Amino acid sequence: MRLSRQLFVTLRDEPADAEVRSHALMARAGFLQKLAAGIYVYGPMLWRVLRNIENIVRTEHDAVGCSELLMPALQPRELWDESGRWERYVTDGILFNFKDRKGSEVCLGPTHEEVITKYVASQVQSYKQLPVTLYQIQTKFRDEIRPRFGLMRGREFIMKDAYSFDVSAEDMVDSYATMRQVYSNIFSRCGLGFTQVEADSGAIGGSGSEEFMVDADTGEDAIAVCKATGYAANLEKAVSVIPAGAACEATVDMHKEITPGAKSCDDLLKLFPELPLTRLLKTVLYHVDYADGGVGVAAVMCRGDRELNDVKIINHLDALNIELASEAEVKSATGAAVGFAGPIGLADDIRLLADESVIGVEGFLCGGNETDMHYLDVHFGRDLPQPETCDFGTVQAGDSVVDGEGVIEITRGIEVGHIFQLGTKYSEAMGANFLDAQQKTKPMHMGCYGIGVSRVAAAAIEQNHDEAGMIWPMPIAPYAVHLIQMKPGNDEQDALAQEMHDALEAAGCDVLWDDRKKVSPGVKFKDADLVGVPIRITVGRDASERGVEFSLRSNRDNKEAVSADDAMARVIEMVKESGR
Ligand code: ATP
Ligand code: MG
Repeated sequence: MRLSRQLFVTLRDEPADAEVRSHALMARAGFLQKLAAGIYVYGPMLWRVLRNIENIVRTEHDAVGCSELLMPALQPRELWDESGRWERYVTDGILFNFKDRKGSEVCLGPTHEEVITKYVASQVQSYKQLPVTLYQIQTKFRDEIRPRFGLMRGREFIMKDAYSFDVSAEDMVDSYATMRQVYSNIFSRCGLGFTQVEADSGAIGGSGSEEFMVDADTGEDAIAVCKATGYAANLEKAVSVIPAGAACEATVDMHKEITPGAKSCDDLLKLFPELPLTRLLKTVLYHVDYADGGVGVAAVMCRGDRELNDVKIINHLDALNIELASEAEVKSATGAAVGFAGPIGLADDIRLLADESVIGVEGFLCGGNETDMHYLDVHFGRDLPQPETCDFGTVQAGDSVVDGEGVIEITRGIEVGHIFQLGTKYSEAMGANFLDAQQKTKPMHMGCYGIGVSRVAAAAIEQNHDEAGMIWPMPIAPYAVHLIQMKPGNDEQDALAQEMHDALEAAGCDVLWDDRKKVSPGVKFKDADLVGVPIRITVGRDASERGVEFSLRSNRDNKEAVSADDAMARVIEMVKESGR
């Protein structure tokens, strides 16, 4: 491809709203152009990257016998009423929904469990037609609360979604295991470093799920990993054994302590310098929106050195969402200002829960439900019953793993894939049944599997860039080689560059040929650094002797003078090796 024929515009400045490198660099290199918040034009270079990712996704799915199809983006509300998800998605504000000319409600698909379940239900009658796994690559629509980070969190984005249908739970687990391997193959083939983690199932539902995280410090997700045991889980889901707190005997009676203005653990430690943080119990009040439509306030306790985990609380309460209680809610629950909540003397309608970290804590300090007052030397069992206790805690670096021996570290990642065992949640709700060998009607067992195709492109750049620009992994790079011609119009350079371009293209290597006439070599090099094609060949002064300069974008200062033939052989070898 001659660069002079492309619409190729690079910018010196990055967009003001670019908070991460992938967004800034892609915008500067003209890969994407913002149309509105979270909505982008994918330029020609980016489209090549996305097609390369899609190609890897397709071949790996096809290799295990999945079939590709395409479902409508426009979906009628009735379908979502059948699964019972319309209300939830509308309440969450995720859904782009509107009325058609007849007044019927429709949405733009944020995901396709309903459509696929309906489709398969209509096609499958007998166990003889199962198992089957179907997938599509399509634009999804989600009215994200905070669209940001460019392709990372768009309101319109490209997803591959697959769905498996089996006759039994055991078979579903097999299909799931196959897809887990497919995912692992896909991200390896994309040339990405990734971690496979246990995950929370969220709004999709079902019994088990795992996420695939591209390792990157800028990732939105925190991951608990243990190198010794191989344990890895999204922090939303992770469990651990926490360090024991300090021991204390029940010799002193519970009593009030006046604590003016002490609303945080730090404030309290200043007032009680002798007290270890592990003898301080926090009580956090949450406003809860329950899945059944009710609302309420819940109080959750945990040890002073630990943090609560919203997702675990939401799951335990079967809530749609929780947020910190408002000042008014705190006042009515505790009779006090924010910062003095505790387990003793809460209003009757407040549900009191505690994280497991409170177990065994003796003689603790806790809020007194009175402004500027705490209780000290409190004991569960003696001064109050221990509340309903469950794991509501957030794993911290240094905790021990539950299974085996090892210490947990916290790393960050970008979620690029998520696989779920759904079971019969959708098939039962929507009547996706089959007749088994005994002619008995049974619901199909489903799995669903998503990859954020456009997010993969962004994640690849978060993981692979430097101050000068992007560094594409060969398998998904827009081009395999960037051929820079120093002086277009010079006969010898023209001839050699043309020859190399044609030979490499014929050998299946995508060439980006910078043949621009009125652009200085310096600008060409800068642009090449920015665009990040993995191999660079410069055709310049030595063209008459068939000499060129060869370098890799990942090691751009190491430039070698080689023959054109040698350079081409290297490119062909590298492309072959990458599986591109
Ligand atoms: P997240 O937790 O990041 O919001 P999700 O759990 O809602 O994602 P899924 O419903 O599991 O996502 O979607 C499958 C995949 O689609 C995700 O693993 C992610 O890679 C991608 N994805 C989800 N939302 C977006 C988005 N707004 N923009 C780009 N990609 C997305
Ligand atoms: Mg997810």
